[in-house]
Amino acid sequence: MRFIKKIIIRLLSVSLLKPFLKSKIFIFCFHDISDISEDHHSEYYSTEKNVFLKQLNFIIKNFEIISTEQLKTKHLLDNKKAYAVLTFDDGFYSVLSEAHPVLSKKNIPYTLFLNQSAIEKNQLWCSNVAIHKNDVDYLNAFYNNLFIDKTAANYSAFINNKILPVDNLNYDKLEYNENKTKDKIYATKDDLKAVLKQSSLITIGNHTSNHYNLAKCSKTLQEKEIADNHQYVKDVFGITMEHFAIPFGKKQHFNEDTLSVLAKNNYAYIYSTNPSYIKTDKNFASQVFPRIGITNQSVGEIKFYINRTLLKSISL
Ligand SMILES: [Zn+2]
Repeated sequence: MRFIKKIIIRLLSVSLLKPFLKSKIFIFCFHDISDISEDHHSEYYSTEKNVFLKQLNFIIKNFEIISTEQLKTKHLLDNKKAYAVLTFDDGFYSVLSEAHPVLSKKNIPYTLFLNQSAIEKNQLWCSNVAIHKNDVDYLNAFYNNLFIDKTAANYSAFINNKILPVDNLNYDKLEYNENKTKDKIYATKDDLKAVLKQSSLITIGNHTSNHYNLAKCSKTLQEKEIADNHQYVKDVFGITMEHFAIPFGKKQHFNEDTLSVLAKNNYAYIYSTNPSYIKTDKNFASQVFPRIGITNQSVGEIKFYINRTLLKSISL
């Protein structure tokens, strides 16, 4: 059985199942574009620069790229074409320095999902962990202060960089110390203001203030994370956001409270990082757009990801 599975995976990595792509929209989720030598580079979220260009060329060749704004009127799209949407989460500066020049030259729209702490403090807790992956004192303090379930196995997995403890943190206690990182990791508000002034290709979306796992936050904290970030972007950039990307973005990272807070704040376009629509008992997540998360995959792997969503009834 495993052998057959291997063959199917290999076949699905060779070429796209073109006839099945018609009228479909694939939303890709990128984060950071950096090379391994850079301090903040992480296997969790980074794409190497030369790999990103290959991925982008593949998407351009096979899809018409539209904006998240065009999803509002997706019934008007040509049902004979295949579409792609490019999104970048967390507001990494590398998106402006590496991706923007290429996308702008080709007139390709894209969406940035922004976090206030990244813009204002040049840090998010998850990239802080990545930057300090070899700093045992930092990791110990983080574990002691923030882990809920402190077990030897959890400690070992964390200290050996095997997991990002998204589901096991006391988010109420998370706070940012003074930033000692010299690296410019995230775009500042001046960077963003400049690029927004010069280009109309960018849509801005909400990704919460601090990138917590919302399912592990009280409804009050979720409200704060979503509404504060909404207000921040409105005050700083004069933009009223309507698109929201769930931090971490899987089924276990949001709940019914999240969707009710989003509805209250007029967010009608919500994005996961699940490659197909999330099904639950209550089906509360059916309104959340799927996205295909991309880090450093080869074109063959991306073909497989896309084909797999077309055959989602088969478990691959
Ligand atoms: Zn994110």
